[in-house]
Amino acid sequence: MHEMALVHGVVDAVLEHAGSIGAGEVTSVFLTVGQGRDVVEEYMQGLFAFLSKGTVAEHARLIVDRTPFAVRCNRCGSVFPIDVFDSSTWECPRCGAERDYRLHSGMEFTIDRIEVVGRADSGHAQADTGDAAFSASSARCPVGRCASSVAGRSMRSRRFRHVGEERRGE
Ligand SMILES: [Zn+2]
Repeated sequence: MHEMALVHGVVDAVLEHAGSIGAGEVTSVFLTVGQGRDVVEEYMQGLFAFLSKGTVAEHARLIVDRTPFAVRCNRCGSVFPIDVFDSSTWECPRCGAERDYRLHSGMEFTIDRIEVVGRADSGHAQADTGDAAFSASSARCPVGRCASSVAGRSMRSRRFRHVGEERRGE
């Protein structure tokens, strides 16, 4: 069940980020997951809730955006979606080249942004959320293997937008 490793990496990255900005609660986590990634979205929400239990992210909603499996034609450069199970889609719609392409998208797995609320402006509250994130990290990985390489990959590719901080800055 490799969703466990992937979601584990997401929880780690989200908690680290939430801790670094002193978030009181993480409300939403936006992911981009390519169609080529063999993951079951229904599992991911449950796994996220399980792995983040007792942390500032335990009630967060996962919003998953699936990107199409698309290729770029080696002859004309056209980008088009393909269905790996339907050979009629393997031909370039522009120049007609057959199966002469390379992968363009569909294998992404990134955290696009997280939404947080309740960052108190006092140093005390910030320390509290820091503690929450810390206790979460020590309680990590109740089951399965701790796929730190997966976690590292998803953390490198994250593109967070500090929603909570943006709101405060207005
Ligand atoms: Zn072409």
